[in-house]
Amino acid sequence: GIRCGIVGLPNVGKSTLFNALTEAGIDAENFPFCTIEPNTGVVPVPDPRQDKLSEIVKPERTVPTTMEFVDIAGLVAGASKGEGLGNQFLANIRETDAIAHVVRCFEDENIIHVANKIDPLADIEVINTELALADLESVEKQYVKLQKKAKGQDKEAQKLLTLLDKAKPHLDQAKPIRSLELSEEELLILDKEFHFLTSKPTMYIANVAEDGFENNPHLDKVIALAKEEGAEVVVICNKLESEIAELEDEEKGEFLQDLGWEEPGLHRVIRAGYKLLGLQTYFTAGVKEVRAWTVKVGATAPKAAAVIHTDFEKGFIRAETISYEDFVKYNGEAGAKEAGKWRLEGKDYIVQDGDIMHFRFNV
Ligand code: GDP
Repeated sequence: GIRCGIVGLPNVGKSTLFNALTEAGIDAENFPFCTIEPNTGVVPVPDPRQDKLSEIVKPERTVPTTMEFVDIAGLVAGASKGEGLGNQFLANIRETDAIAHVVRCFEDENIIHVANKIDPLADIEVINTELALADLESVEKQYVKLQKKAKGQDKEAQKLLTLLDKAKPHLDQAKPIRSLELSEEELLILDKEFHFLTSKPTMYIANVAEDGFENNPHLDKVIALAKEEGAEVVVICNKLESEIAELEDEEKGEFLQDLGWEEPGLHRVIRAGYKLLGLQTYFTAGVKEVRAWTVKVGATAPKAAAVIHTDFEKGFIRAETISYEDFVKYNGEAGAKEAGKWRLEGKDYIVQDGDIMHFRFNV
């Protein structure tokens, strides 16, 4: 599956967030095809469009799509040199596709801060430095090997060396690869060859106190930094979220109403993670089931079909397609057909977010 790793210093609220996510999540037994490790949670992606579709189609069941969050054990300064759970931590991050970096923006004397002081920018720097150091180490390992090859007139090796020459000084300054100015192609090569930690898409989760959403200087600093980096910030009170997640549906509704919220803050975390991972949703809608499926933005119809079953991709003929807007506007498939909004798309069709699809395939 595609996974978002939750990282951050100890005691910033990572586990609290992770537990809230999984508490609100799906029983693993309902998803027999995923193997779930203890620190991995499969979380439904909240999507109001799906409820709308179910209102129209009235299926027997509605199945949301999901994404995975991984709680990655605490990082301390020196991790890249093997301090604490350092190596394990870095290995775990390497297996994720995106990073949610939790930053403590709440004061609470009862909860010790590893540096004895609430300073989100310093905290972020500790983590980012460790990740950059780990990448720097990978660069150094590869560099010597590539130099040998490059001497032997290996064109590929020469090209990679040029890239590493750009990456190295950047990492030396503890800056992430994702902020390096490279062409799309160069970035892809770096990603494929070196699996850098700091090239992963990253968002910040600012963990604030219940009354810390506004007039919070800690938060303001995180927002300013993220803006510089072009990163997203999700502001949330993890403690409150863990309380909300434990409530039964009815109580939950009342609780949210009292807060004046339309949905738990967790939903914003999940959606931000989904977006960060470059994912989008298409739907299948039949009387048995309305179901959401996840594809990468830019996926073709056969690739989307493969998410349901590889046979659908292999034997792909056509995809019957209705846009979400048309499906709703014309009150379902029959109406959309009548209005001429039902399309037969071929193998080059790029799936659009919200498409309602039905695949025709050979067996
Ligand atoms: P982790 O080490 O980053 O996983 O941090 P935890 O989630 O275990 O949280 C550390 C401590 O901080 C726990 O005692 C939590 O109850 C507490 N905590 C987490 N989030 C908040 C919050 O938003 N406000 C306050 N006051 N305490 C929190």
